[in-house]
Amino acid sequence: MVDKKVRHILGLSGGKDSTALALYLKDKIPEIEYFFCDTHKELPETYAYLKKIEILLGKKIKILEAKRGFDHWLAIKKGFLPSPRKRWCTEQLKISPIERFVGKDEAVSYIALRADEDRVGYISTKPNIKPVFPFMNDGLIKKDIFKIIKESGIGIPEYYSWRSRSGCFFCFFQRKIEWVKLSEIHPDLFEEAVKYEQEHKDGRRYFWNEDESLLDLAARKEHIIADYEKSMMQKKRNLPNRPLYEVLETVLEDESDDFCFVCHL
Ligand code: SF4
Repeated sequence: MVDKKVRHILGLSGGKDSTALALYLKDKIPEIEYFFCDTHKELPETYAYLKKIEILLGKKIKILEAKRGFDHWLAIKKGFLPSPRKRWCTEQLKISPIERFVGKDEAVSYIALRADEDRVGYISTKPNIKPVFPFMNDGLIKKDIFKIIKESGIGIPEYYSWRSRSGCFFCFFQRKIEWVKLSEIHPDLFEEAVKYEQEHKDGRRYFWNEDESLLDLAARKEHIIADYEKSMMQKKRNLPNRPLYEVLETVLEDESDDFCFVCHL
């Protein structure tokens, strides 16, 4: 009897941790298959970063769900927009595509959770997909991840100057300052996010940000920016000699550490 081949898979999100894991495992597990679940609503910086990762890895990243993005599923859900409590987007756009990609094959899925994180990553309920956590197993923490990224020469994703996570541009896990920055850096995407709030078809009052509409948030952006700058100043004093993106990440983590365990690694 021939042994069933075990596949090795690693999902890239366009974020630093999954990128660092791909680099960390590149020579250790050369047969690894890389994939990216495309919601069709990612930031342009994410798509650009994925292209850079492909070059560095010397391998194609398989794009999952290329034909059926967020709007397709929103129509199927009859205009019911997702939220932290009703997160159908993660299920339909991230988890199901991975499980379809693997099918009935035996697979080892490498997950980029670090040893200094107290979180649970995506663990498939499918018995044929075995999760493995190399950073946790080898004791790698945030500073090691930044080191891997730096030494590879790829640099951190461009959105790190204003946002600490990959994922959809309208992700409801964004912090207020990230919405403000989206409105300044990508006004077209901010406008699209506003349209979803105003034009969704299920009859509910809906705000991505739960407690206020994006237009209300934008109207008081000076106040949000002032709070953010104050926090940055304080953190810079507490974390001298650290790059700005590290300080920013700490400030954003202080504001809220809610995140999607599938989309934001
Ligand atoms: S990034 Fe946010 S909005 Fe997009 S699929 Fe993930 S949880 Fe949903």
